[in-house]
Amino acid sequence: MAKAKLRIIPLGGLGEIGKNMTVFEVGNDAFILDTGIMFPANDMHGVDYIIPDFRYLTERKDLKIHGTVFTHGHEDHTGAVAHVVDAFPGVPIWATPITAALLGVKLRDGHVNEKTKVNVFEAGDIIQVGPFKIESFHVTHSIPDCVGFGINTPYGLIVHSGDYKFDNSPVDGKKPDYAKLASFSERGVLLLMGDSTNADQPGWTPSESIVTGAFDKVFREAHGRIMVATFASHISRIQQVATFAELYGRKLAIAGHSMTENVKMARKMGILNINEDTLIDLSRIHDYPAHKIVIMLTGSQGEPSAVLSRMSVGQHRQLDVERGDTIIVSAHAIPGNEEMVYRTINRLFQRGADVIYDPIAPVHVSGHARQEEMRLLLNLTRPKFFLPVHGELRHLKEHAKLAIQSGVPAENVFVVENGVVIEGDKHGLRVGERVPGGYVFVDGSGVGEIGRAVIRDRETLAHDGFLMVSVNVDRDTGEVIGDPEIISRGFVFLRDADDLMQQVKSTVYNVLENQNGRGRNNGKRREYLQESISKVLYNETKRRPMVFTIVNEQ
Ligand SMILES: [Zn+2]
Ligand SMILES: [Zn+2]
Repeated sequence: MAKAKLRIIPLGGLGEIGKNMTVFEVGNDAFILDTGIMFPANDMHGVDYIIPDFRYLTERKDLKIHGTVFTHGHEDHTGAVAHVVDAFPGVPIWATPITAALLGVKLRDGHVNEKTKVNVFEAGDIIQVGPFKIESFHVTHSIPDCVGFGINTPYGLIVHSGDYKFDNSPVDGKKPDYAKLASFSERGVLLLMGDSTNADQPGWTPSESIVTGAFDKVFREAHGRIMVATFASHISRIQQVATFAELYGRKLAIAGHSMTENVKMARKMGILNINEDTLIDLSRIHDYPAHKIVIMLTGSQGEPSAVLSRMSVGQHRQLDVERGDTIIVSAHAIPGNEEMVYRTINRLFQRGADVIYDPIAPVHVSGHARQEEMRLLLNLTRPKFFLPVHGELRHLKEHAKLAIQSGVPAENVFVVENGVVIEGDKHGLRVGERVPGGYVFVDGSGVGEIGRAVIRDRETLAHDGFLMVSVNVDRDTGEVIGDPEIISRGFVFLRDADDLMQQVKSTVYNVLENQNGRGRNNGKRREYLQESISKVLYNETKRRPMVFTIVNEQ
């Protein structure tokens, strides 16, 4: 009997930066690698975040999912965990200690911690997930406790890099596991899946430790408050800032729910060392002079709901920008977020703060490998096949070129986007069928309740506003009773638009009393009225506000 087929299904992270999620299958056995989210681009109004479309998994009833394995604790790898656990209760989780703790916060927040079991392993451990023997190895990135994996399959070893760079002087002293990578290549690597984020950048990413120098300068020179915005999960950055706060005699306050929770958890675990009397509650910052205060906050990507951007528009409950504040944005804008990040930075300047961000000073360094590190990984593992992951299409393409230059045959390099299955058997690997691999939007109202259509509506509202017409008609004769009421926001200033409003009113009379009004049911009549008014508005203003109509029968 032929051995079961190997299938690798990227459900997120290929063709975009964010929401990483991959399924590995051999026959009917499977495990999931990472369950990330993506932050919305600025043209997705009101969406809080985006999770991968994992319909494929819910539809494959025959598939036995043995576990979900995590590379590290960043949002783009862990953020959707509660949604996945909710969809597949009972499927256990595997993660290193810090990643497991970060996941724990999310599972509790999502009220699903009872639905799964979290198995903790140390970098370097071999874990058995159902029939899959998975060998973890330590990689350096921008948070501690990151791993990549060697995944044993009937057709050979798959090496997944996780998010990595080769940092030879990491802040926590734990170096990349070069030895394990070399031992993989001795055994023969079927497929390498490598992080492509910085594939278009030559050279080598600087070590995380250069940030220390830049922070020291800020702490030495700032006369007012210092605020540092970064990712909520960036424990090593929080540690660096806390250490400087203690060195320069400042109190540290944390703003933002997720960062506050992470700090609590990390201190409890002993991976974050902050003196009891250094940490103060955000409500107490005014008890101290400005030069005695450091505040760490979320929102380094300009996310509208996070602390930094709310503060930049004067809408944070407890925090205002004050003249003399120094604000460090310690993160690079993820592609797609640049506009929001720079808009936020401009607003902070307008409010009188001094804003420091890379490239003004190296207050952030990428956690991802550049070209020379990618070549090193390719040369260390010498894979037969190569699948670039974690990047937009342009990054994947560049990474593919590097692989080919490093000696992987061009026909063995797959540049694919989400939903494209890579299949394997004893003859090797090839590109297979396509499964759904799109977006699921999440906002306050729930998961997947808003689709493209809702986003389009929000776009219309944001660009052209709306106009609402409410009118009473006689139930029997269809005659309009009284004057139609017109309300508008974000479209035209009604008092300056007499002519236009007159035209809208006569359209109402025309439609309801003349040719097309009578005899229709109320829904149809409303719809027709809506279309007619939209047409008038477009003809007169060349804009398309959203039009609502209410027809009350009396
Ligand atoms: Zn990461
Ligand atoms: Zn990532």
